Amino acid sequence: MARVIRDQGAEAFWGEATAVLADFVAAIQAGTRSTWLSEHLSSEYPQDLEDVSVISDLLAGLVGQYATDAYECEACGRILLQRAPDDPSFVTFSPDVGGATHILMGRARQCLGPDVPLEPGVRDTEEGRR
Ligand SMILES: [Zn+2]
Repeated sequence: MARVIRDQGAEAFWGEATAVLADFVAAIQAGTRSTWLSEHLSSEYPQDLEDVSVISDLLAGLVGQYATDAYECEACGRILLQRAPDDPSFVTFSPDVGGATHILMGRARQCLGPDVPLEPGVRDTEEGRR
């Protein structure tokens, strides 16, 4: 599996990521870290997490907002690309040469052919092999 951030979303992603991280650092320096966490994450967000964990959560949230999933079918090599972050359907692309190339080197999905729409988590190749 791969996560894809398209050109149209990349500028906004990096802009938001750098802005929120700079804002978090400024809050730490100003001594308002606790208030910042409550306002930007939630009032229930653990206050005792290390900064690196907070940064990881902030970036993971942005990746989830901007990135889409891409998979390679291990059976035929098709690439499955999620249409949009808020759209659970996928589009398939066939390689010029037959078979899987493992170009994404991760968890694969079974495409079941080019005309079958996919829903996330429905047709994982791991399940299909059982
Ligand atoms: Zn396939």
